[in-house]
Amino acid sequence: MTTVDDFNFENKKALVRVDFNVPLDAEFNVTDSNRIEAAKPTIIKILEDGGSAVLMSHLGRPKGERKAALSLSHICDKVSEVIGVQVKFVDDCVGEKAEKAVAELESGEVLLLENLRFCAEEEKGDKLFAEKLSHLGDIYVNDAFGTAHRAHASTTIVAGFFPDKKCFGYLLAKEIKAIEKVMKTGEKPVTAILGGAKVSSKITIIENILSKINHLIIGGGMTYTFIKAQGGKVGNSICEDDKMDLALTILQKAKDLGVQVHLPVDVIAADDFSNKANTKIVAVDDIPDGWQGLDAGPKTLENFRDVIHESKTILWNGPVGVFEMESFAKGTISVGNFIDEATKNGAFSLVGGGDSVAAVKQFGFEDKVSYVSTGGGAMLESLEGKSLPGIAAILEA
Ligand code: AMP
Repeated sequence: MTTVDDFNFENKKALVRVDFNVPLDAEFNVTDSNRIEAAKPTIIKILEDGGSAVLMSHLGRPKGERKAALSLSHICDKVSEVIGVQVKFVDDCVGEKAEKAVAELESGEVLLLENLRFCAEEEKGDKLFAEKLSHLGDIYVNDAFGTAHRAHASTTIVAGFFPDKKCFGYLLAKEIKAIEKVMKTGEKPVTAILGGAKVSSKITIIENILSKINHLIIGGGMTYTFIKAQGGKVGNSICEDDKMDLALTILQKAKDLGVQVHLPVDVIAADDFSNKANTKIVAVDDIPDGWQGLDAGPKTLENFRDVIHESKTILWNGPVGVFEMESFAKGTISVGNFIDEATKNGAFSLVGGGDSVAAVKQFGFEDKVSYVSTGGGAMLESLEGKSLPGIAAILEA
């Protein structure tokens, strides 16, 4: 895998695709600079080599139109503060103006281009537009995992104009290695913890990972489709009746492959989908009518703990309860704690895709797991076994 470490950027202009799609408040202040911080090591490496960096990103969804509220000029000061260099800005991302700003760029300097998605050609993956982008650098660096599953001009097509001068930035390389560790090279036993609301949104992931894991922990709303499919009573719990056959197929496939499946045995049931609902602990397959399972029960958590503690590689995708409500967050917090303990004992743990990342951040587990993926959709597509165009474009000769 070619990374920025394989290039000396001295007197070179690096065209770097970053993901600076950061949240802004009403006064256009950046409210979370994590994504800028995440790109910093790559930018610093380029500058320390004696090169300069031309940064390109999208912000929001302007849908091919110039929208002042989504101008990347709003984040220029924040990028300067994080990188420690006064960042220049040009209010275009291709063409004469941008080319002039790049030509004037000196070693050690950083230039931020205007929002790529002001141009409709970006999301269309337009070749001519990508060629124009390619005029803005000597070496192409992709450090934006969050958009690696999109075949856009700046994430994929532009790479074709840098046949032997393209590479991954540190952030993207780290994401790829973390996923590889779980899917290919991870030490056994490998455990996947899948939660979230629905089986239907996780089915492709389950099908892809079954042959790569030893244990499958199923939690959250998905549970009840599996339980009902096996003849259990799930009361008013969330359940996809049309996915029950699929659930049984998954269980059979897991058995054939020797994968141990761990479903909840007890749950915290509530008489309403509300933080203030009455609750009681019931067997997962005997939930009374009018009650719904909203979190994992104590016996379930003991079982999950034992499996997680003996795992050497752990993937976590999806909360095991309705963690947004305090009354039903305990299960998800406990799973986070078990992963923390396993990680301290030498396991590699990866959290990625959607709401489990939100949960990990909300409960402060970010530094306790080995890796938290920044790319929602891109992470999910990787787990589904899809080849991401942004990654393939760098790997292609
Ligand atoms: P996902 O985006 O598929 O990972 O789903 C995450 C959502 O699943 C979160 O918003 C949780 O509140 C929700 N969830 C987890 N457990 C349950 C449950 N037992 N019943 C309903 N929703 C749940």
